[in-house]
Amino acid sequence: LDHFTFDPEYILKTLKSLGKNITKANIAGGIFIAITIIIDVFKKISEKFFRLLMLVDDGAYEIPDEYLPALEELIKKVKDMPFFIDIVLIGSPYSDQAQKLLKLANLSNGELYGIKNVKDLNQILTGLSEKKYVSEPSFVKQKLRIILPDNQLFYMSLADDPKNVNNIATCSICFHKDDQGLVKCPSCDTPAHEVCWAQWSETSNIGIPHVFRCHNCFNILKLDKNYIQDVRAGKIPTIAELTKMKKRNIIEYLHEIESKSELKVVHT
Ligand SMILES: [Zn+2]
Ligand SMILES: [Zn+2]
Repeated sequence: LDHFTFDPEYILKTLKSLGKNITKANIAGGIFIAITIIIDVFKKISEKFFRLLMLVDDGAYEIPDEYLPALEELIKKVKDMPFFIDIVLIGSPYSDQAQKLLKLANLSNGELYGIKNVKDLNQILTGLSEKKYVSEPSFVKQKLRIILPDNQLFYMSLADDPKNVNNIATCSICFHKDDQGLVKCPSCDTPAHEVCWAQWSETSNIGIPHVFRCHNCFNILKLDKNYIQDVRAGKIPTIAELTKMKKRNIIEYLHEIESKSELKVVHT
């Protein structure tokens, strides 16, 4: 569907225009493809809820039993985005297919709506087009997100490593211009000190301490886990601390020179 916003009339019109051209649907394959697309969008867009709306009738292929575990695993991983599936089932709610769909919808905290006739679709779609109320998990309220250990590997695999920067550039976080420990986002080329991004990740990670979004383009980035821990433990100086140190050294140096010249004054 071209429409970005959810427009039930548009969906109904499209369905009607397709009419008999709609081929027997491969539901399992469709879910895999839809989630793949959603993962791609998730990589670039933050602070969104992702919803897959499925319209299924008796004409669709039943989800093969052997596909079910893989689908369940995938949904368990992406539901932290947060992601959910709402399904409108047109036809018998007692079929094996209905039971499988119900399981998948529930797994993602979505819902299955059963209707007997296509005529009821309008009402259901209109209801669904209103912003879905999603009870906010406590971690959202506290601005803290946590991705469960079982799912962390999946989200880490979505993250890019920042690229090295070998020339002098201005860090987009602390605005210092130098060539010390600079890296850049591979998606938007925005440079930043690795240590500045490590600090940034403390408040803006996606639920894994060393996986965070680029502050410029929202692309998902990751830094070394131990490096981040060292920065947070104060074992690696931040740019602000380094600058202070340099200033202090210069002041100490000036004091030294001063005291030497004072001595000279005393001597003469
Ligand atoms: Zn910096
Ligand atoms: Zn970026």
